[in-house]
Order: sequence, then structure tokens, then C-alpha cells
Amino acid sequence: MPDWLDRDYLLRDVEAKRRITDELERLPHYAWDGRSEYGCPRVMTAEEWRELYGEVPQPCTCGRDQHVEFVLSMLVLPYSDRPGFRQEWAPE
Ligand SMILES: [Zn+2]
Repeated sequence: MPDWLDRDYLLRDVEAKRRITDELERLPHYAWDGRSEYGCPRVMTAEEWRELYGEVPQPCTCGRDQHVEFVLSMLVLPYSDRPGFRQEWAPE
């Protein structure tokens, strides 16, 4: 094990990754299109959703989910050669 890969390093690494994933969870679903703020379907309440779309699942259209998936794929990239790594986690 290299010298820098000690217990304190590992604890700081875990803390940093927890803070990143916490921040990702707090990201809202909306965007600014240059003229007005708009929400993506994911920002609606369950009632609003059903009224507009019925039971059909709607994808995020504001870019938030794509951003979250990109950041998560970067966080797991160092483990891409490990057993259990799923190909859908690999960056495109
Ligand atoms: Zn969205």
C-alpha cells in the first residue's frame, strides 16, 4: 500500500464523496432557458403529474439527471476493473 493511502486519507476520501453525493441529491429540477425559468416534469407534484401525463413516466428534461449521472460515473470510474462494476455505470 502506498504511503499516501493511509487511514486518514481514506476517511477524507469517503467524506469528500459523501459530500458530493449529498450535493447531487439536493440539485433541483429546473433550468433557465435565457428568457424564463421552467420546470421539468420531475419537479411536479404527483397530482400535477397525473393530470398532465397520466401514469406514463416522464424523463427529466432540464439536464439535472444527466448531470447527476455524469458526476456519479466519474466517482465510480476508478472501480471499473472491479468485480460487480456495471457497464451502465461507465461514462459514454
Ligand atoms: Zn429535470
